Amino acid sequence: MLKDNHQDIPIFGSLLSDEEVLLNSLRKEPVNSKIAYQLLKDQLINEGNARQNLATFCQTYMEPEAALLMAETMEKNAIDKSEYPETAAVEQACVNILADLWQAKKSEKPIGTSTVGSSEACMLAGLAMKFRWRDSLKKRGLDVTGRTPNLVISSGYQVCWEKFCVYWDVELREVPMDSTCLSLNPEHVLDYVDENTIGIVGILGITYTGKFDDIKGLNDVVNEYNQSHEHQLVIHVDGASGAMFTSFIQPELPWDFRLNNVVSINTSGHKYGLVYPGVGWVLWRGEAYLPKELMFEVSYLGGSMPTMAINFSRSASQIIGQYYNFYRFGFNGYRDIHSRTRDVAMKIAQAIEATNRFELFNTGDNIPIVCYTLKKETDVKWTLYDLADRLQMRGWQVPAYPLPKELDDIIVQRIVCRADLGENRGEAFIRDFHDCLEELDKAHILFHDDNKKETQGFTH
Ligand SMILES: *Cc1c(COP(=O)(O)O)cnc(C)c1O
Repeated sequence: MLKDNHQDIPIFGSLLSDEEVLLNSLRKEPVNSKIAYQLLKDQLINEGNARQNLATFCQTYMEPEAALLMAETMEKNAIDKSEYPETAAVEQACVNILADLWQAKKSEKPIGTSTVGSSEACMLAGLAMKFRWRDSLKKRGLDVTGRTPNLVISSGYQVCWEKFCVYWDVELREVPMDSTCLSLNPEHVLDYVDENTIGIVGILGITYTGKFDDIKGLNDVVNEYNQSHEHQLVIHVDGASGAMFTSFIQPELPWDFRLNNVVSINTSGHKYGLVYPGVGWVLWRGEAYLPKELMFEVSYLGGSMPTMAINFSRSASQIIGQYYNFYRFGFNGYRDIHSRTRDVAMKIAQAIEATNRFELFNTGDNIPIVCYTLKKETDVKWTLYDLADRLQMRGWQVPAYPLPKELDDIIVQRIVCRADLGENRGEAFIRDFHDCLEELDKAHILFHDDNKKETQGFTH
């Protein structure tokens, strides 16, 4: 009998294939790499098919050339600008492209950086607002001690903003999501603002529903406030999902640096930037909006270069993957990919609406997110949780969860369409969706108690 370390050992003839793979302390001896590869891959086998995961905004497909390029550049350290100056130039090119896409003015000297994702990007943007608020109080001769800075945002915020506030001692002021617009109502925002407001966050793509805050309306309200107050309000746009979609699909919609009070924008390169996780971006409309204290010098070609980041070492391969997409697709490529994705989302939304059983909150026309609830008058014994289970039997992962606080008696379901869900796959989903409804109508044993308000699935 061959030993496990013999190069000809068949994987499933090895002793190792009988043993637990996940250990709590290191094995004493190494194992054959071929066996290690297969057993570890098998360990992840029942995680579901990423391409059918309609719960996540995160990218689940890249072209083989992109994946190869990324695998081949995994060793490059993004922070080590002197070792990898060309990589640093690629990152800067991405920032320049985004500044141009978001219509920053060159004269203001836009500035930005890559991050691990939107969460790190939001931390940096939030810190910049906090530091500028403190500086402006000092400039006005006011005392900072004893004041608690606050941040104003709709209750549909993503959890990274709660983290920002907890980590950096900022009060989170939630503007309740309005049941009519299911987003931030600009008319009510000023009720939450005072001298200690570091900024207002507008969300371009609310995680729960996919709806957009009215950033233009918010900008108008902020203009009014700023004209009559010494304390100046600023807006940060959380465009994790929307900022790399809207610029291509609705270029006429002003939500970006065209609006004078929008000082910074974040996005997730791994959402509609079409890169595998994790890469994000944060840009400021001009260098004046990024306090110097947040910049640190790293060595660069014998000199030094200012950087801003919370993390230090990480692979540059995601940044290179982002640039690959920019270079490969160009503006029209992104536009065509995104508009096809939007068509698929709208088609799914129409099919769901046509059943007459659901009320649609988002139909995929802004970003390709379909969000719906069961109509009150829909008289069925099953819940959206049962529907989620049923869809899962066919491999589709579609979460069901309650809306935030004041609206949490509304349970919704959300479908995130991504580029790799082609129209043919979308049709397959629609067929499965109809079949699932039919099966549920006939089912006797139902699992979920309809009063429950749990969150099922990944709702980021
Ligand atoms: C996904 C998301 C985030 C967090 O982004 P990561 O890139 O996962 O860190 C923040 N805000 C919104 C609105 C999001 O949709």
